[in-house]
Amino acid sequence: MNLELLESNNENLKFVLKGSNEAFLNAIRRNALSKVKTLAIEEVDVYENTSAMQDEYLAHRLALIPLKGDLESLVEPDKCCGGKCGKCSITIELDQQGPKTVYSSDLRFSDPKASVAFETIPIIKLKSEFQRVRMEIRAVLGSGKEHAKWTPGIVAYSQFPELEILGKIENAGEIIKSCPKGLLSEGSKGIELKEPQKCDLCNECVEKSEGIIRINKSDSDFIVRVESHGSIATKDMLLQSTAILTEEADELQKKLEKK
Ligand code: SF4
Ligand SMILES: [Zn+2]
Repeated sequence: MNLELLESNNENLKFVLKGSNEAFLNAIRRNALSKVKTLAIEEVDVYENTSAMQDEYLAHRLALIPLKGDLESLVEPDKCCGGKCGKCSITIELDQQGPKTVYSSDLRFSDPKASVAFETIPIIKLKSEFQRVRMEIRAVLGSGKEHAKWTPGIVAYSQFPELEILGKIENAGEIIKSCPKGLLSEGSKGIELKEPQKCDLCNECVEKSEGIIRINKSDSDFIVRVESHGSIATKDMLLQSTAILTEEADELQKKLEKK
């Protein structure tokens, strides 16, 4: 397996993975989306809400705000008291009076290590001084298989494009020009695909060549893209996903050995 990094930061990760297979990558993708733990708002006690929005809508909006924190120090709620105590939940307060727009930065966390991932997410507009929201909120660990609010981001992959030349190319110039991304150039075999990782398999060039060239999709090489919603870094999403897969494989192995 060979990994070539194209882009890497906390929000975006892009790489080419060669010598792998789709089943393996899909297992990594599914684990990342459904089993990696993140922090999200689970309970909202509304003490006062004189805004134009119902409690349930507000709670739903709050739950979708990506949160960051020291996740390793938190216990999963189902292994503790169900998200009521300080070991398995983080308390957040919201107390704002209009006129103003309430933003995610207005949430006050009991744990100094916890925060919102983005401070400028609007929650609600309070039109006058007679509108107020006052609530106590609890955030707990969870995973995407329970609710999408805990999904840490997006993982996607596409098969690596490979140019195949099937005959004599007569109209190389036209084929080269037909690529909207300018990825084709003249090469020893008539045409070459530069930077194949940028090709989106649109097949414009294939149509222009009238079947003389083909863009094949590799079965073993892939372009992988990871985007984080802000709760955890992209690299950690994949690292945790692979750790879960390894744990599951180990468990299966142990069980089989006992039989
Ligand atoms: S498939 Fe589309 S993007 Fe890829 S090389 Fe051909 S024209 Fe360009
Ligand atoms: Zn608890």
